[in-house]
Amino acid sequence: MNKLLFCIGTRPEAIKLAPLILEAKKRGFTTTVVTTGQHQELLEPFLNFFSIAPDFRLNVLNQGQSLSGLTSKIISDFSPILTSLKPDLVFTQGDTATAFACSLVAFYEKIAVAHIEAGLRTHDSYSPFPEEMNRQLIGKIANYHFAPTDQAKENLMLEGIRDNIWVTGNTGIDALRITLDKIPDSPASNKKRILMTCHRRENHGAPLDRICRAVRAVLDQHPDTEVLFPVHPNPNIKERVQGLLGDHSRIHLVDPLGYVEFAAEMKKAFLILTDSGGVQEEAPYLKKPIFVLRETTERPEGVSAGVAALVGSDQDKITEYVGRALTNPNYYQSFQKSISPYGDGFASTKILDAIAQLGK
Ligand code: UDP
Repeated sequence: MNKLLFCIGTRPEAIKLAPLILEAKKRGFTTTVVTTGQHQELLEPFLNFFSIAPDFRLNVLNQGQSLSGLTSKIISDFSPILTSLKPDLVFTQGDTATAFACSLVAFYEKIAVAHIEAGLRTHDSYSPFPEEMNRQLIGKIANYHFAPTDQAKENLMLEGIRDNIWVTGNTGIDALRITLDKIPDSPASNKKRILMTCHRRENHGAPLDRICRAVRAVLDQHPDTEVLFPVHPNPNIKERVQGLLGDHSRIHLVDPLGYVEFAAEMKKAFLILTDSGGVQEEAPYLKKPIFVLRETTERPEGVSAGVAALVGSDQDKITEYVGRALTNPNYYQSFQKSISPYGDGFASTKILDAIAQLGK
């Protein structure tokens, strides 16, 4: 197992595979990095920060493309790279079209697949869509499963996957640890800063309206607060958020931040409101209370450990819970346990130790 190939489609895949690529290079593995172009501009600056240059940049996105169109384009463009390079192992991460399509191509070429962040499940095929099905299908294809938590391992075992599962923590926490080590602390704000992200499909439309109204109510009730909201460029999100929150003097709507800047903002925030999967993992590592704007989560460990609260898009619930965190120090501190359910920042080391033990 010396020739490793890493497949990256979206921002979270870049963030979560970068520490592993660095560690593999450090250990002398031959590495190849392929980006498919699902989120090209969002991830190049991040890869630069980690001094990672993709060896192949595919360009799979087309205007008005369907999910089938995207998946088949990734398959047809990735396939020749794989057949010419013949790596020993293909790494895919998470639950995107890239992760699924590249795993499938590797299977067709009889090349082993290592799945990073294996075993996350909501058990609802349509939520999140299509990610839940992508994860399940990759779980079926992969030869080696790197599960972030015990619960994720259990999910795999319940699906009949018994062998080659390692619980390592999430490599996203490695990325956060490495990034925060590299950058200076930014100055604190004189207001309680709420950092917010919201872009998942399930929240488009009425749920997003309720969330925005709740955020406005929180700010109006608590004059010592402000919101920083990097808004996803999707027009379903951007226009609605601009219309509902754009005129508030203490709500700062900005374009999506580069990861390094976003990591610094997470560290600086008083609390975090999000529907993002990655942010749910990162906030507890930073001991930041996090309110999850989803009805269900495939990351239940934070809620069980009491370091995250699930508030969905319920306007009253969001206003009440966030208001309580802003005014009740005991409640606020109840989130600041020394528990990082998604990893200790050294998952990559554990993953490559396991790969090294697989030998030839
Ligand atoms: N993130 C970022 N800039 C932002 C918002 C988020 O770099 O403006 C990072 C965040 O720290 C996390 C990742 O992007 O590591 C999460 O990506 P996203 O929410 O797109 O995907 P998910 O984690 O829900 O799959």
